[in-house]
Amino acid sequence: MARVVILGAGIAGHTAALIAKKQLGKNHEVVVVSPNSNYQWVPSNIWVGVGLMTPDQVKFPLAPVYKKMGIVYKQAIAVSIHPDGDAQTTSGFVKVKHIAGDREENVTYDFLINATGPKLNFAATEGLGPDKFSNSVCTFDHAAHAWKNLQSSLAKMEKGEKQRFLIGTGHPLATCQGAAFEYILNIAFEIKKRKLEHLAELVWISNEYELGDFGMGGAYVKRGGYITPTKIFAESIFKENNIHWIIGAGVQKVTEGVAHYETLDGEFHTQEFDFSMLIPSFAGAGMKAFDKNNEDITPQIFAPNGLMKVDADYTPKPFEEWKASDWPSVYQCPSYENVYAAGIAFAPPHPMSKPMKSKNGTQINPTPPRTGMPSGVMGRIVAENIVEKIKTGTKDHKHKASMAKMGAACIVSAGYGLTKGQAAVMTVFPIVADWEKYPKWGRDISYTVGEVGLAGHWMKLFMHYLFIYKAKALPLWWMIPE
Ligand SMILES: Cc1cc2nc3c(=O)[nH]c(=O)nc-3n(C[C@H](O)[C@H](O)[C@H](O)COP(=O)(O)OP(=O)(O)OC[C@H]3O[C@@H](n4cnc5c(N)ncnc54)[C@H](O)[C@@H]3O)c2cc1C
Repeated sequence: MARVVILGAGIAGHTAALIAKKQLGKNHEVVVVSPNSNYQWVPSNIWVGVGLMTPDQVKFPLAPVYKKMGIVYKQAIAVSIHPDGDAQTTSGFVKVKHIAGDREENVTYDFLINATGPKLNFAATEGLGPDKFSNSVCTFDHAAHAWKNLQSSLAKMEKGEKQRFLIGTGHPLATCQGAAFEYILNIAFEIKKRKLEHLAELVWISNEYELGDFGMGGAYVKRGGYITPTKIFAESIFKENNIHWIIGAGVQKVTEGVAHYETLDGEFHTQEFDFSMLIPSFAGAGMKAFDKNNEDITPQIFAPNGLMKVDADYTPKPFEEWKASDWPSVYQCPSYENVYAAGIAFAPPHPMSKPMKSKNGTQINPTPPRTGMPSGVMGRIVAENIVEKIKTGTKDHKHKASMAKMGAACIVSAGYGLTKGQAAVMTVFPIVADWEKYPKWGRDISYTVGEVGLAGHWMKLFMHYLFIYKAKALPLWWMIPE
């Protein structure tokens, strides 16, 4: 009997767990270690942040699903990886700390999937975060807290008071611009719905060099028969919604009602706000790694930001020399062939957006986004390759999913409602631009498309229900793609 241990029950880990168990059956064990007792469909947190969904609509308890599937679930946090075992055991194991009772346990594995997602690194920016001076929509409880604060701004506007909303990135190297973009458009929509536009000032702040960069160096998209850069796509959406923008901005500190930031020209500025939602920088979960003699081998397994090194080309090279082939395709740890990382947990080889420095030497640019769809696909292919290894003894990886070879669809909600809702739908193929293969546009322009409209809102809402259905492992769940 083989044991597959999966760290994290988010989009990547939960997908991997369901697929591994379905394909391995009763003869092998699948164990999930995750600290949160709930699964949450993170993309719908945007709607929690504007009061259109409750936290209960975007989450459900994991334990009953895992019981039904025959997956062992440990509500615990992984602290360290011991891939060679230790003096007592020759098998690789993970040291975990249980949430109940603070008990420690060594969980041995034959195969390990690290799918611990991002650590929301609020501490990297002074004053940032929901327990300090800004809001977040990164988790359902953060989003519920943001909605509470947003309501108080809306109530002030109902009484005739002007309010300034500052939305964007809260660190010079933050990613996930798409989520912030969605949130500002949803706030704009809610303000319009209440006929309060005359009292609102909406400001976007981000580390992007150009609007519409989205951490992927921007894109050219087909829109209404024309080829449009995402810069124009994003600018036109912001203009329509009366949103001003500050770009090339690295937020360095937040104090009560004020964001302090540096711009690429080396100037330092402040921006006052009444309500803010600023995305923090992401880091790895902060696990350590030790060899058999208990020597710290963390730098061998993890990049300095705590994300796990996989089959990417990490050789430092200038922007001009970046290649699609730098990106990993099987997510296997180079030092240990039975260890993998899927979703946000893997360390990208480099950003996708051009690295930029301010005159003071501060690096200000988005780090690469890893959205839900690729995270789910990575979870799937890593599980499928492990299943084949277990069943056939092969060392090969039949299933591959490089971000430079896979497409992604991103639906940016821009307002909620069955007849008045809106969303900007963007598909890119591939996610990482490949200028060698597609010298004109960097991507395959037939599949790189952007449109705005009501149909997009329906799709986003449909996906909410569909993916929650799938995550609950309800009948025929496995037929639903990532
Ligand atoms: C507000 C918001 C909106 C978004 N909207 C979209 C969208 O519309 N479309 C889209 O494609 N993507 C969207 N994304 C991105 C998407 O949510 C992520 O790509 C996706 O969640 C990443 O999946 P993951 O499994 O890598 O990480 P996560 O989903 O974050 O899961 C990580 C898991 O690991 C667990 N964990 C953490 N530390 C440990 C530890 N030490 N030990 C064990 N377990 C641990 C966590 O509890 C969690 O269960 C959005 C993100 C945000 C924040």
